[in-house]
Amino acid sequence: MTRIVSHTTTKKIDLLALTLPQLQQWLKEQGEPSFRAKQIYNWLYTHLVTDFAEMTNLPQSLRSRLAQEASIGPIVVRRELHSKDDRTRKILLELPDGKLIESVLMLYPPLGESSARATVCVSSQAGCAFGCTFCATGQMGFERHLSAGEIVVQVLYFARELRKAPWVARGLPDSKPIDHITNIVLMGMGEPLHNYDNVLRALHILNSPDGFNLGARHMTVSTVGLVPAIRKLSQEPLQVHLAISLHAPTDELRGQTMPVNRKYPLSELLAACEDYIAATRRQVTFEYVLLAGVNDTPTHAHQLGELLAPLAQFAHVNCIPVNATAAGYRPPGPEAIRTFRDILFQHGVSNSVRAERGDDIAAACGQLRTHFDTSKS
Ligand code: SAH
Ligand code: SF4
Repeated sequence: MTRIVSHTTTKKIDLLALTLPQLQQWLKEQGEPSFRAKQIYNWLYTHLVTDFAEMTNLPQSLRSRLAQEASIGPIVVRRELHSKDDRTRKILLELPDGKLIESVLMLYPPLGESSARATVCVSSQAGCAFGCTFCATGQMGFERHLSAGEIVVQVLYFARELRKAPWVARGLPDSKPIDHITNIVLMGMGEPLHNYDNVLRALHILNSPDGFNLGARHMTVSTVGLVPAIRKLSQEPLQVHLAISLHAPTDELRGQTMPVNRKYPLSELLAACEDYIAATRRQVTFEYVLLAGVNDTPTHAHQLGELLAPLAQFAHVNCIPVNATAAGYRPPGPEAIRTFRDILFQHGVSNSVRAERGDDIAAACGQLRTHFDTSKS
């Protein structure tokens, strides 16, 4: 078996980058019994500790050794912002090599039948290589992939925060406080399927029943549409929810806002989605950022309806009024959104609209870092 090497730029091994079998292997290499791995996993992901000294059922010698040779994720929070209603929280994380990434926590009080949710929007890369014209991250260009530990730590940060101070919606003092993370979405900075192995490893780590124990159904991977990776994902034992950033109903228009379309045109993308559905029997969400005057007319809605109607109940469209970025796009007004959605319904395509949130803290991906970089210079 290959030796497990450190994934951080320091010499220490980042335990948050290791699956349970990898941690067992690493401990074996240190001459420790493998049952210690489950104990450590329990401290990391159930007790959410940040210090080896707290792992009180480990021998003192092992604790000191871990403190010297291992770390519990990189975590330097340069900024933390809470929206005025405290339903959106955003952090700017500095990685060991100085790269900056963002993560967002979105809190939803219980509504009717549905229970309360705490969703972390996770980054998978610093920057992004795909250059979508409406996306602040896309305009930064690609910097690097995140390690599995750098992905996992974003979720743990907010999990620890909620554990320390469970959240109750303002104005709903009688609602049950939320003290844990219920969902994660890979919709922060970067393209998760471009960093396939580390993303999948992070999801396995968070899914482990011996640790964080978050169900695959509570994990969403959002992709710009990397066809071979979508096909690979459909064969994984971990059946996560798939979201496709569609954003245009024709190749011509999609090619203008999303350069990736030239490599993987709509016919190939939709065929991969059909195969994903056939393999998993799971619904796919199609994200559609509404850009006023660009892709939001009734004609576009009809084209989108015709494109997705063959997928029937397996397709769901999430309409997202664009968050304004430097590129100068504007979101459509409520009437144009209503008309767009009604046309989709006429075609039998289920759809919803994403409620805007966190406007006062620049919550759209890439925006906080853009503000931060600008204010520094
Ligand atoms: N790279 C992946 C995941 C990160 S982006 C992807 O593209 O799917 C997460 C979602 O935010 C995508 O649907 C993306 O298109 C959308 N998005 C990007 N810029 C946005 C903006 N300015 N306003 C609203 N949504 C945006
Ligand atoms: Fe990258 Fe996604 Fe932004 Fe496109 S929308 S540039 S793929 S992060």
